[in-house]
Amino acid sequence: MRVLVVEDEQSLASALDRGLTKLGYAVDVAYDGEEALDKAGGTPYDVVCLDLNLPRVDGIEVCRRLRADRFSGGIIMLTARSGIKERVEGLDEGADDYLVKPFAFSELAARIRAVTRREGSPLDPVLSTRGLELDPNTNLVRREGVSIHLTPKEFELLYYLAKHEGRAIPQEELIERIWDERMNPFTQTVKVHMNNLRRKLNDGFEESMITTIRGKGYVL
Ligand code: CA
Repeated sequence: MRVLVVEDEQSLASALDRGLTKLGYAVDVAYDGEEALDKAGGTPYDVVCLDLNLPRVDGIEVCRRLRADRFSGGIIMLTARSGIKERVEGLDEGADDYLVKPFAFSELAARIRAVTRREGSPLDPVLSTRGLELDPNTNLVRREGVSIHLTPKEFELLYYLAKHEGRAIPQEELIERIWDERMNPFTQTVKVHMNNLRRKLNDGFEESMITTIRGKGYVL
């Protein structure tokens, strides 16, 4: 799940970045409206958290242009208490929801879950395949009924592979969908996460669930 945080207030932007990253989302930050449109033009975000009062291009205009460009992810506006007119305008321009500042981080997390469920993206109900059961609401995994404890990132990896079961997924695709722009495409991060994931999944089982196909990628 990729999230774009658009917020010109640095301290709030980095708090949201840290919090959402901790939940396992791939987070990018834009500090003005123009940067937001640039980033959204090149990356298929699942959700945009959009401050309305922004330098260069304001949030309502960002929202309008995103929808005009057929952006299909969720848009959650972050607004001032007094901004009723803006909120209505934003909803009219295609925003899905809004939060009034200051808000609790847990509330933003809940809105993101709700919006992405509505959009039908990764946070679907439990996914089960080949003896595996994945619950994206709790990050709980079971293999043949045995609980497996995964980090949020490992869960996202496994969920992505399970959703595309039988298809070899190249490392670049995993980086694009699960990490964010700070991720160096030449790092060992995917490999390291994949090794940990495999170790946890295979613990106590004979058959390995994830196969590496040389030059093609990983397949479940
Ligand atoms: Ca602002």
